[in-house]
Parts: sequence; structure tokens; C-alpha cells
Amino acid sequence: MKDIHNFCAGPSLLPQTVYEQAAHAILNFENTGMSILSISHRSKEFVAVLEEARQLSLALLGLDQKGYVALFLQGGASMEFLRVPYNLMQQKAAYVNTGTWSSKAIEQAQLLGEVQVVASSEDRNFSYIPKNIRVEEAVDYVHFTSNNTIYGTQFYDIPQTKAPLVCDMSSDIYSREFAYDQLDLIYAGAQKNIGSAGVSLIIVKEEILGKTKRVIPQLLDYQEHIAKDSLYHTANVFAVYTCLLNLRWLKQQGGVAAIEQVNNKKAALLYQVIDELDFVSGTAAKEDRSKMNVAFRFKEEQMNRLFDQLCVENQIVNIKGHRSVGGYRASLYNAVSLESVEALTTVLHQMKTLV
Ligand code: PMP
Repeated sequence: MKDIHNFCAGPSLLPQTVYEQAAHAILNFENTGMSILSISHRSKEFVAVLEEARQLSLALLGLDQKGYVALFLQGGASMEFLRVPYNLMQQKAAYVNTGTWSSKAIEQAQLLGEVQVVASSEDRNFSYIPKNIRVEEAVDYVHFTSNNTIYGTQFYDIPQTKAPLVCDMSSDIYSREFAYDQLDLIYAGAQKNIGSAGVSLIIVKEEILGKTKRVIPQLLDYQEHIAKDSLYHTANVFAVYTCLLNLRWLKQQGGVAAIEQVNNKKAALLYQVIDELDFVSGTAAKEDRSKMNVAFRFKEEQMNRLFDQLCVENQIVNIKGHRSVGGYRASLYNAVSLESVEALTTVLHQMKTLV
């Protein structure tokens, strides 16, 4: 596995130690003699896993003891597109539209109330982040997507508002320091920087809940999940365990601030090479470039074939752009090594000599 350079956008690469510990737990979970796949989600062993994961997920963002609760729920980030308006929408919410995932969130919110799109980058194919977003009007909440996985753009400033601020951080949570404590609800599918697919993390400030008069189906009700300590129903036991292993790994690396330094190096190296070479270009506006998803394309169509071939020869995989936009995308999540980025930049340099 080690020699393969895997740039998958998600489910993404996880650290080798996480794979090893997760594999061991399938055979013998913490010396219980049982598989993690076959223990009760209400067993004391799993409850301890869940509680540590909930605690660590907050602590790594500096959000423990600040009125936030962490939940590990199912349905992917897409479920939160619906769960958020169910819990927070009274009449009207403001959304920032920076790509496919924001658009999907908007569509779901429109089922439950009025949505005001207060800023959008759709006019230039979502290649940039709208600036100086300020929502003065009284709205129930403001929603934005901190990192646009498909278009490779990322927010460096947060929208200004007095309303509760909600952020889809599926593809950059735990990758960098951010104004986490100015966000009132953060959600993310686990399958990038948190753990394996099949579970999502929701971090919510409890004080923003309970304001809507809507009848909320239990499975969609954050307060119900909080009351049940994130065990309303059968948890995705294995996925929560991989999240815990990965969060422990992140803590061992020195936490978010330390991993951000590594992530900055990886992104800087790749963008530098993309900017240096005249046959390839980044697709996102320079000041809004994502450090997690580097989207690029070759200026001439025939270079794609050469690049594809060199990727095969160098064991570089999962680097095609999202099927909706084409081109290429290297996802540089926390577990992707600098060596893998170097393997990719070496291939790009090699192309210079072949064209
Ligand atoms: N939001 C963002 C920013 C994403 O990148 C994705 C998936 N890649 C989603 C939402 C949807 O996540 P899921 O597939 O877990 O529903």
C-alpha cells in the first residue's frame, strides 16, 4: 500500500497505523477476543470508544468546555443538508453558494423555508470565493461550505453575521486552524480527514437548538441525538472506531496546528510546480486555492494521455477531476505524505522534457 500515491478525494487515504489497528480490531478488539464488527453498540467497550471520539473531536478543535456537543451520526454530510434546516429554519436562512455541495444544501433547505443566496461564485463556474460576506438581515442562520472539494476553492475568512453560523467542513475539518469557535454548527462526512465512510461528525452549540416550532422527526432531531448521547439507534460501530484511531493519530502528530504546517508545505509545492510549468494550470483563483483539493488541467487535450500513462507508471492513483468538471484533482488530505506530492511533481516535471 505504501508505494502507491493515492490522491483520492474521498473516501481518502488514512494513516498506515489506522489501517493496522482497525484491521487488528476486526480480529480481536482490544483483547476482548471479539471482533469490533460483532460487539453491541451499547457495550461498555464501544460506549468508551464513542465517548473518547466525541471528546477528542471537540478538543482537537479547541471546542471542549465551550457549550458544543459532538455527534457521530449516519446519512453522510448530505443528510445534514436536510437535518440543518429541520432544526434551525423558522422562516428564512441565508446560504453562500460556492459549488455543487452548497447548491445541494440550498435545494434541501428550500424544502423547509425561504432561502436567500447572499453570495455566489456561480457566475465564474465556482472558481473563486465571494469576498466580504456580511449578512445584516435577521435570518435564522447562515450556511457556507468552507472547502469546495470539486472546484478546489477554500474560504480563508468567514462570513460576518450575528445569526448562527453553519459550516459544511466535510473536506477541510482538522486540516487547518480556523475560526472554529465562531461557528455554531459544523458538520462533515468522516471520509476525508476524520475516518472511514459511513458516519458523519456534527458539532453543534447546544444553545442554538430548540427554537423552531416545527415537528422534527426523531432521527432528524439533533436534540434527540444529544439526549441519547449519540446512540439513538445502532451506531456505525466500525466507522466510529476508525474515526477515533485517526483522531488519536492526529493528536500524536501535534494536532491541527502541526498538521497544518505539513499541509501548507504539500500544497505550496504542488501549486508552485503548476505555476512554473506553462502547459498546466490551476483552475481556481489563486487567492482562493484549496490546500486540500488541488484542481488543475493541461492546456492541450493530448497531454492528458501522457499524464495518465506516467501516473500509471509511477503508481499515482485517483487523481481524475470530479466527473462533473473533468480535468485533474489531487486531494492532499492529512494522511497524504509530502513524498506522494513529490512523486506527482516529479511526473509533472518529467512531462516538460517529453513535450
Ligand atoms: N459536502 C462536501 C464539501 C463534500 O465534499 C461532500 C462529498 N464529497 C459532501 C458534502 C457530501 O458528502 P456525503 O457523500 O457524505 O453525503
